[in-house]
Amino acid sequence: MQTEFSVESNDWKMRQHGSSRYIVFLVLLILMFSVTSTISETHAQVKTIQGTNQAICISDECFNLASRILTSMNESVDPCDDFYQFACGGYVNKHQNSETGSKSTIGDLVKLVDYRVKEIFNKGISPSMPETVKQAIDFYEKCIDEGTQNNSGLEPMFSLLESLGLPRLPIFRSKIQLLPEVLIRGDKMTGKTPFFNIAIEQQHGNTYLTWNVQKQVFNKQLFEEFFKTLDRHFRLNVIDAQQAARDLFDFYSSMFTFSVLDKNEVWMSVAEFQQLADDNGITWFNWKRFLTSFLEDSSFKFDLEKGKILVRGPTIAKQLFYKLHVAQNQRINSYTWFFYFYSTAPYTMTDFRDKYFAMDPHFRFNSSGEIDLQTRCIAQARSVFPDAISYAYISKYFDEETKQNTEVMVEDIYQAFKLLIRDIDWTDEQTKRFALEKLDAVKQNVGYPQWLMAPGALDGRNYCLEDVRGDWLTMNLKANIAASKKYFLYKFNDTNWTGTSKMAMNACYEGRQVYVPAEILNSPFTKNGLASLNYASLGVFIGHEFTRGFDDEDLTVEKNEEQKKWWSRKTLKNFDERVQCMVDQYSQFLIPELGSNFKLNSIQTISENIADIGGLREALLAYDLFKNRQMHNVNGTEALPDPEPYLPVLTSYSHKQLFFLGFSNMWCQKESPAHLSQKLSTDAHSLSHQRVLSTLANNRDFAEAWQCPLGSRMNPVKKCIDW
Ligand SMILES: [Zn+2]
Repeated sequence: MQTEFSVESNDWKMRQHGSSRYIVFLVLLILMFSVTSTISETHAQVKTIQGTNQAICISDECFNLASRILTSMNESVDPCDDFYQFACGGYVNKHQNSETGSKSTIGDLVKLVDYRVKEIFNKGISPSMPETVKQAIDFYEKCIDEGTQNNSGLEPMFSLLESLGLPRLPIFRSKIQLLPEVLIRGDKMTGKTPFFNIAIEQQHGNTYLTWNVQKQVFNKQLFEEFFKTLDRHFRLNVIDAQQAARDLFDFYSSMFTFSVLDKNEVWMSVAEFQQLADDNGITWFNWKRFLTSFLEDSSFKFDLEKGKILVRGPTIAKQLFYKLHVAQNQRINSYTWFFYFYSTAPYTMTDFRDKYFAMDPHFRFNSSGEIDLQTRCIAQARSVFPDAISYAYISKYFDEETKQNTEVMVEDIYQAFKLLIRDIDWTDEQTKRFALEKLDAVKQNVGYPQWLMAPGALDGRNYCLEDVRGDWLTMNLKANIAASKKYFLYKFNDTNWTGTSKMAMNACYEGRQVYVPAEILNSPFTKNGLASLNYASLGVFIGHEFTRGFDDEDLTVEKNEEQKKWWSRKTLKNFDERVQCMVDQYSQFLIPELGSNFKLNSIQTISENIADIGGLREALLAYDLFKNRQMHNVNGTEALPDPEPYLPVLTSYSHKQLFFLGFSNMWCQKESPAHLSQKLSTDAHSLSHQRVLSTLANNRDFAEAWQCPLGSRMNPVKKCIDW
């Protein structure tokens, strides 16, 4: 019985529906069917209750959605007081978590896609697959093969350390300077260097070299755990693990704590950069020599005499060089040893890997705190072979109909945004014209890049990864090297869908393009049975991405060139006032889980908040455009007040109300305090429940649909709207 209500008939997905709310849903459903025994069928997927014009959608998708919405709600809460609790209170209660975890509606989609990729990968390599997919499966199989990893032991890592010119164990009696040589070898053999990071980047068709300080997310616990694990494997007490960890962590902290937050970027020639190093005492590091070696493995051509490097944080570079100049060689050497040990140990024995992932915030907070080995390996394979995974997934699961429906939706959102811009009262005509022109230039990409599924194309683009072969450690090191030196060097013939990183479980806006990749085109984003609910979920996401082209960040980029032409002082002042309104409003948001005095940094999230509020407005208007079109298409149905059917059981909610319920349901999430604070310090987006509450409180249609009295929490007198 249970699986009938799931789009996927996989029992992993059904486990989440074990609550009493679900039983209530089933009872209501049975009741409804006894009532509707007299209904007449008008359409295969729709039933109309006799004597009324109310049509009810009875497709699997609609039942699935109705079940999801109903079991997530807490209808005892006043929707005008706390709509998040009203829409998601049931969900939050249902998912009591482990200490570090997070569970969310969107997280469930990620699991669905992972599950499908796992299914494909677990079947193994077949001869007809493109080489790149075979390579990705090989990588995955080595990743899950813990037996072989443990049998190989630590020997491969030790021989690597030795070839770098480092000892097997972190015991440095000699005080000689190892650094320039070790860094050149380290870069060659692992694609990584401690202290700084040279990278090849590509944007708007330009490829260039960048210098950054090497950012790590080390914490004290990680140092200790790693040393303890090393010590345990030797049972010799060759090192005082705790003391060694403490010393190293102190050194690491002192090296990477800077007196300024330097966000400046300057272009420097190699000679100028050498001068900067020399001036701060690092005369012993020859940048030309290092870069020559770095570039040997790359097909990127860089002129060491005339070429310029983009230095991110010149003041930080200066401070780092000076710190290296005054630090003792012994300590620099120890940290360098730890850096390479830490970078390679996770690809040796499972002991180290588990420690590594327990500390990595990216993996640690991904789901309920425990990720099974296969899922983790899919994630790892995805980071190295994103195109191969997309190819495998799209070949099996993507359908053209969803693509076409989504393209219609993207077009509706675009038209809606246009109408909203025309209606704005805070800009002058000239700015409006500029905004409309800018919107016109945004390219819409749905599904996947055209080249991806063309015969032979995937392998053709794989030249930068074809070397990623060998045992588990070697494969990972080669993947690092490819990522730092070759990854970005694709040649793009088409101007649409540039770059590869957009194949992911997210929509995005980048370089005047909106991306809606294939992986996101599933429930809960789309395939919800009702168009209104698809516009409320995927539509809002697409609107959000369109609006990103018009947020404060994007305006800052344009301020120098375009804005002078288009933005009058008055209009800019109006825009800034509206941005300030949001900054003030969002900073009042309370998060009791993190303490009563907790204050939000609403400047960090401002761009995303602008996009959230705009995205919802655009999606709602886009749905109206869709509905109008539908009503005109259907002949002789004037008697039907609404062309869209209602959801089973939730028939007392109007379509507009369902729209807001569906939107909010996307953000249902149960997060631990640790997860919340992690997100607050790193995420450019607001927290899920804030995205619901603040976005809706700034929306007049919401207040009207739910008849919230002016001045209630969900319908404040002062609203902040930019676009
Ligand atoms: Zn965003």
